[in-house]
Amino acid sequence: MANFNQAINWLRNNKKVRRPSWEEDSYWTLGKDETICWKIGINAHVHLNQVKAKDWEIYEEEQLKKINEDRRIKCIYCKQPIHIDNFAGVNKKGMFCGKTECLIKLAKELEIKK
Ligand SMILES: [Zn+2]
Repeated sequence: MANFNQAINWLRNNKKVRRPSWEEDSYWTLGKDETICWKIGINAHVHLNQVKAKDWEIYEEEQLKKINEDRRIKCIYCKQPIHIDNFAGVNKKGMFCGKTECLIKLAKELEIKK
């Protein structure tokens, strides 16, 4: 959590920022001419309460991942959490995702067994 000045610093360093009270996938980003924009490219109106706020944080896609990580199962090959949409299957060792690299590892293991 940080104050507005820090949030501006983050924006200038190409980070996206948000506040915990915002909807999960909402954030500010810095547009052309250093204007503050919502993610969709609409200029944001900066309110005084936002300038005073001390709960700014960096928005990262990672953050969303983290929220779900606990209740998600990790791929036995890449060790990344498996989303329901990239779940590829399960073998004796555990579950694996649908990434090419993981499927190649799976295929190699199956070849060895033959
Ligand atoms: Zn994987």
